[in-house]
Amino acid sequence: MYRVRHAALACALALAAGGLFTGAAQARGRAAADSGPSPQLRSMLREVSARNIEHSIRTLAAFGTRHTLSSQDDPVRGIGAARDWIFDQFSQSAAASDGRMTVQRQSFIQPAGPRIPTPVTITNLVATLRGTQPESADRVYVVSGHYDSRCTDVLDFTCDAPGADDDASGVAAVLELARVMAKRKLDATVIFMAVAGEEQNLFGSAFFAAQAKAQGMDVEGMFTNDIIGSSTSDTGRRDPFTVRLFSEGVPTTETPAQAALRQSIGGENDGPSRQLARYVKEVAENSATAMHVRLIWRRDRFLRGGDQISFLQQGYPAARFTEPAENFAHQHQNVRVEDGVQFGDLPEFVDFNYTARVARVNGAALWSLAMAPTAPKEAKILTAQLTNDTTLTWRANPEPDLAGYQVVWRESTDPLWTHTIKVGNVTSFTIKDLSKDNVQVGVRAVDRDGNRSPVSFPVPAS
Ligand SMILES: [Zn+2]
Repeated sequence: MYRVRHAALACALALAAGGLFTGAAQARGRAAADSGPSPQLRSMLREVSARNIEHSIRTLAAFGTRHTLSSQDDPVRGIGAARDWIFDQFSQSAAASDGRMTVQRQSFIQPAGPRIPTPVTITNLVATLRGTQPESADRVYVVSGHYDSRCTDVLDFTCDAPGADDDASGVAAVLELARVMAKRKLDATVIFMAVAGEEQNLFGSAFFAAQAKAQGMDVEGMFTNDIIGSSTSDTGRRDPFTVRLFSEGVPTTETPAQAALRQSIGGENDGPSRQLARYVKEVAENSATAMHVRLIWRRDRFLRGGDQISFLQQGYPAARFTEPAENFAHQHQNVRVEDGVQFGDLPEFVDFNYTARVARVNGAALWSLAMAPTAPKEAKILTAQLTNDTTLTWRANPEPDLAGYQVVWRESTDPLWTHTIKVGNVTSFTIKDLSKDNVQVGVRAVDRDGNRSPVSFPVPAS
């Protein structure tokens, strides 16, 4: 008993002392009030037009169906007509980009499978806005929506499938972002994409992501916008200023060795997709977007998936934007009236201003990512000796406009980073009297304009 009491007393004293020092460190680390989006970002977001988005959604719905197995050469009805229209829209944006944006049709033949009765050509439309900072131009962010649609029977390619919310809304947002961003010079590269074959099993995005991986493309973040058209739930509740952002914690591609490390030190809430989602909340939840980004710590909704999974399967960080509460009478349904209830994914159920706000959230995230330095590479936490200090090291960033780094931390139970220390242009830093056993720590890079990278979560130095 004595020994236990003694140990408890010693522990209490240590906590008190640690508390004092930690308190000092925490005071030192408290973040300064965020000044919010820069004037350049604000003016870019103001250009995002709900009227353009409405026009795109109505045009896409008017192709009758955009089923992956529908006609590819009918100029009026079917996925081929939609494909050509999207290509033209991207091309118009590229024409205003001073050569920075190029547009590509990425076609491949998908072999027969459970949802593909005969081999079919699938085409992704890919608009690449090349970064202008040589040290950053090979760093890529992808924003995507799927332009294929379906009705009740996933194999029925003749029924009307207007797909206004699922997912003309996502494609319209991507087209509008391409239009607005093509005129701007970004440090890193942004790819605006409309994929097909999503409803048949994510085929278009899977092909793109596999090709990207094979080429060694450095995709440091991917967002799919899928079902971002309505802010009204099936009970009529409106939530027009919220968007959900789904992100996984444990990476889909985690190896057994990585799993063993995670089990020993934690980190199940600090995978790269989770850091990307935290980043979006930091840079896109503000007066310029008027939106609340509801982070959901789950790869996707129950029973369902989306194009972000194709990127996760290749080891790329990715997350999914979706409206706050879905109305299933307007998804994957034949257009019909039953007992006075209108079924079907029709433009009349889309809130175009809402979709424009979600597009602004994407715009704020993409612009911030593409203007900021890359997240520091090879972030390590020193564990050679038992100590109650925390020392991080990382590799120096390559960007010429780099200002320095920030070390951040939070309680292990806190969702978001709560403390920041500006540490200057160094590649290691020790936080005195802050034990790595008790908090989550990370490091991010900052440029001279104050643009911050996502946080790198360190692994123990071996
Ligand atoms: Zn969808």
